[in-house]
Amino acid sequence: MTILVLGGAGYIGSHTAYELIERGEDVVIVDSLETGYLEAVHPKARFYQGDIRDRSFIDRVFEQEKIDAVIHFAANSLVGESMVNPLKYYDNNLCGTKVLLESMVAHKIDKIVFSSTAATYGEPERVPILETDRTCPTNTYGETKLSMEKMFHWTEVAHGLKYVSLRYFNACGAHKSGAIGEAHNPETHLIPLILQVPNGKREAISIYGDDYDTKDGTCVRDYIHVTDLAQAHILAVEYLMKGNESNIFNLGSGVGFTVMEVIEAARKVTGHPIKAEIHPRRAGDPAKLIASSEKAKTTLGWKPEYTDLEVIIGSAWNWHKNHPNGYQSK
Ligand code: UDP
Repeated sequence: MTILVLGGAGYIGSHTAYELIERGEDVVIVDSLETGYLEAVHPKARFYQGDIRDRSFIDRVFEQEKIDAVIHFAANSLVGESMVNPLKYYDNNLCGTKVLLESMVAHKIDKIVFSSTAATYGEPERVPILETDRTCPTNTYGETKLSMEKMFHWTEVAHGLKYVSLRYFNACGAHKSGAIGEAHNPETHLIPLILQVPNGKREAISIYGDDYDTKDGTCVRDYIHVTDLAQAHILAVEYLMKGNESNIFNLGSGVGFTVMEVIEAARKVTGHPIKAEIHPRRAGDPAKLIASSEKAKTTLGWKPEYTDLEVIIGSAWNWHKNHPNGYQSK
């Protein structure tokens, strides 16, 4: 199979490209490098630098490569930024996907696996969250991802495109080789920020709110290893290749940890006391997000391998301690 990975220089995209190549698949990567890193591009992938909003660029890729399926990670993904600059998210996430789909339809490429998010649900009605639960995003990022899902649906109705949308919960950890890991600029995610403390890059970790209705008052999230996410993308491509119908799956561990529990696990892993300070709540943070991933397990045969939080944080620490400044290229 030849798989086009859009956004394959980013965090989850690069890990998926590594897993595909490890399984012997042929991989083409497209990335604008606006938020991705050249060093994260697997050396065996054929790489095209460009923006999916550029129709002639994306047409050229489909003309030069014989693509069997697309995995689409090319989107902006910072919740806070999406609230300050919502139109950037509409432009990159929605306009980019529109141009991509036009080009896919024109080139008769009819399979796409798409990186969606738990943010499509907003404040959950209940946990664990099922795929059929209400979707009512509380931020622009989640809203654009939900609109992208709907864009795939209506493109299927009109043009027969098949899609799988994967709604991730909290992606974390790093590749076992230590070659690639999580690097965002600015960094906003909990685990990399915690690990900046033992790395000497920050004095203390801020805990955003300790007055939630949870066991220790801090927010509960479902942390899932990036390699397990990568495996789910590959299973989703195989699912579409077998001629199955379009579908939506949650991807999480099904277990929730509080912010304090994550900090405690990081203290054990790093052997560092990691100072923590209580701050006010961060706007738009739901108290508790936990996935039901039963559907992905039964329908795709997905089996997450990383089930221990300390092992997950250990893999992240293996990357961060050796790359305290992330990738070097920018
Ligand atoms: N969080 C925190 N301090 C930080 C960053 C995050 O307390 O410096 C909390 C945040 O409020 C949320 C959880 O950690 O409850 C996970 O946040 P992250 O941004 O990693 O992922 P999100 O759940 O927002 O996608």
